Amino acid sequence: MPLQTYDTQINSVCQPFTAVSHSFGPKTLKSVYSFESNRQTSDMRCPYCGKMNVYVHARHSTEIKDFPFLPKHRQSLVFYYHGYKCRECGHHFMEPIPAKVPNARITIRAAEWIKGLLSRNMPVSAVAEITGFHWETVKKIHLGFMDEFLRKRKEELQR
Ligand SMILES: [Zn+2]
Repeated sequence: MPLQTYDTQINSVCQPFTAVSHSFGPKTLKSVYSFESNRQTSDMRCPYCGKMNVYVHARHSTEIKDFPFLPKHRQSLVFYYHGYKCRECGHHFMEPIPAKVPNARITIRAAEWIKGLLSRNMPVSAVAEITGFHWETVKKIHLGFMDEFLRKRKEELQR
């Protein structure tokens, strides 16, 4: 990370995930934070049968776009997470990533920021340019495709 940025060290934890590295490309203006799961397998419950008798079957990674620190910069979060298999019912399932909007490679906070900019009548093309998100992603948020999820999450947080 270049010295002119304000963070000299970041110890970031996102639920069971801990930040393990950060990279910044001065030419691409792209920041990537990598998170690894510290989740204990013994704490995992099978979503199909409800039993707590699962094992790590695979390791996966996914890159999720996040809201950048500065205009025209890009920011991504890479999560290294577990795939589990249940010893009781045999189903496979993935470790949940708490920062992510389901069925979209975008963080919840980025979706909320984009919604905020659009709500002040900023054009879709301008939001896409300044945030680095694909025009179609911004358009989906504009059309309210993620509203139901974001509304439910807001309710959960207020409980
Ligand atoms: Zn099961």
